[in-house]
Amino acid sequence: MLDATRPGLIAFPAFLLLIAFEAWWYWSRRRIAYPWRDSLASFGVAVGYKLAGLLVPLVALPVYLYAWDHRLVTVPLDTVWGIALLILGVEFFYYWFHRYSHEIRWLWATHAVHHSPQHLNFAAAYRLGWTGLISFNWIFWLPLVAIGFHPAAVFLTLGINLVYQFWLHTQLIGKLGPLEWVLNTPSHHRVHHATNPAYIDRNYGGVVIVFDRLFGTFAEERAEDPCRFGLVHPCPSRNPFIIAFHEWARMGRDLWRARNWRDRWQALFGRPGATRSGGAAVAAPSRQAAE
Ligand SMILES: [Zn+2]
Ligand SMILES: [Zn+2]
Repeated sequence: MLDATRPGLIAFPAFLLLIAFEAWWYWSRRRIAYPWRDSLASFGVAVGYKLAGLLVPLVALPVYLYAWDHRLVTVPLDTVWGIALLILGVEFFYYWFHRYSHEIRWLWATHAVHHSPQHLNFAAAYRLGWTGLISFNWIFWLPLVAIGFHPAAVFLTLGINLVYQFWLHTQLIGKLGPLEWVLNTPSHHRVHHATNPAYIDRNYGGVVIVFDRLFGTFAEERAEDPCRFGLVHPCPSRNPFIIAFHEWARMGRDLWRARNWRDRWQALFGRPGATRSGGAAVAAPSRQAAE
């Protein structure tokens, strides 16, 4: 019931076709070899993500069922307005989930995995962290269920939202005119994956970019500032286990070195990048620190 990966599994053959097309394009048009070894590492991470996701319902299901039993209202999902509110609600909470995943190190430790590829291509899309259960990723959609959206519908909608995001991970698609105003596009998501000072901590949206524009986290991709992808402190390993846990290890190191409780708190729950050793990457204390 709480499985958001099912739409992704159904779409997986289409994902593979898109990856093959992207590899063909790079080779035939640019004579650039596709980074297959990185892509295989991403695939290994994706398998671990799927397996680790099986554990989430053990903890989350009782909590979600409790919220559903005590919901405020029941939103009818056989109406257009009910479905529209569900899609909008999932997108709204996705924005905050993603933003906090960059702003709180405990969550960043899981999310950094997605930002570890140094080449942005379709294969990077499914490089997702294994530790969402302990980072409490699953808790962000609880308010929707408490309001009155059925948990199965919420997680199905989230899964479809994530499938949409697959095509954002490419450098083959340029700007898309007026669509850039409303939708999250490959251009906006390239900015999100970039470590350039002007781009850090920007463009958290899933399907749309309107919440970034509303809440002041939007940045436009500019030709004169080409994106540099990856982490500020790169994780060049192709071992899925090292990729999945490298940020937890960095966090543990900062915790070990902390001399007082303020630093310990900072190491675990402060902004990534705010710790003495420089912390994570993509999220230095906001833009000024140039992550
Ligand atoms: Zn992110
Ligand atoms: Zn991404």
